[in-house]
Amino acid sequence: MTIFFSRQPHLRPILLALLLSNVAPAAHAAGCGPNVLGPSRVMPIGTQGGGETGLKTYPRSLPLADHEIVLTFDDGPWPGTTPKVLDALAAECVKATFFLIGRNAAAAPALVKREITEGHTVGHHTMTHPSLTLRGLPDARAREDINRGIAAVDLAAYGTAGTEPRVPFFRYPGFGDTPALNHWLETRNIDVFSADFWASDWVPMTPEAELQLVLARLDKARKGVILFHDTKAQTAAMLPAFLRALKQRGYKVVQIVPGPGPIATLPAPADWTSATERTLQKMWPKAPLQKEPAAPAPGEAVPDAQ
Ligand SMILES: [Zn+2]
Repeated sequence: MTIFFSRQPHLRPILLALLLSNVAPAAHAAGCGPNVLGPSRVMPIGTQGGGETGLKTYPRSLPLADHEIVLTFDDGPWPGTTPKVLDALAAECVKATFFLIGRNAAAAPALVKREITEGHTVGHHTMTHPSLTLRGLPDARAREDINRGIAAVDLAAYGTAGTEPRVPFFRYPGFGDTPALNHWLETRNIDVFSADFWASDWVPMTPEAELQLVLARLDKARKGVILFHDTKAQTAAMLPAFLRALKQRGYKVVQIVPGPGPIATLPAPADWTSATERTLQKMWPKAPLQKEPAAPAPGEAVPDAQ
């Protein structure tokens, strides 16, 4: 493969890690036996000009193949549950992406460092996770919450924080975006991630019920970026069984990392609709509705014949 060394210095360590990850045999990395789920591949996601993906909110997704999934965990780190999630991922030798709340990172920097040390991707999820979502805040306050979150996470993770995130990956609390904030993040070369499906783990249920729910959704979707919360005990409890089920069903876990160039995406299926607006109203009733539904960009939502 061709490796582009970015002119952006903060991406160089990531690209170097990417290079090394492709030198090592991917199937069974050191310490990973043949019986674990194991790493499949690292997918660089272009950040030049930013971009929004995730079928729950946007009419486009990452270019994953059938039976490829990306594991993402929001709202941590959380001392009671995040270590169990990290243990489960380590036991199966797979890597995830964590979208951290800045104040949680500041309160538990050792857990952030553990996520980095164990090779996971650490992205951003605001400083305070406001109950109105960012959409309910004045634009300047929303930007401030994003920036403070980035600084807090990077300080906890790396000991220093610059003006731009080391890993320019961001997820909105409650997926409550605005066109102005999306544009602002694009100008900063920060990618926005919604999700393709989720575990609904904000709803209290037994780990067994959550496992059955998420497997049913996975079998329907067959691939995609999945959203969990590593702050939820039921998710931490079901994760080992979920990862074993992935192996039994032939799924591969792909790790996403920042990459060079613009983001590559796949258009949504022809029957796509956004689930975000109705979910926002259910989950975050005080969050304002978006005035206009998110419209596909010209030429983007051409139905895929498949
Ligand atoms: Zn969240």
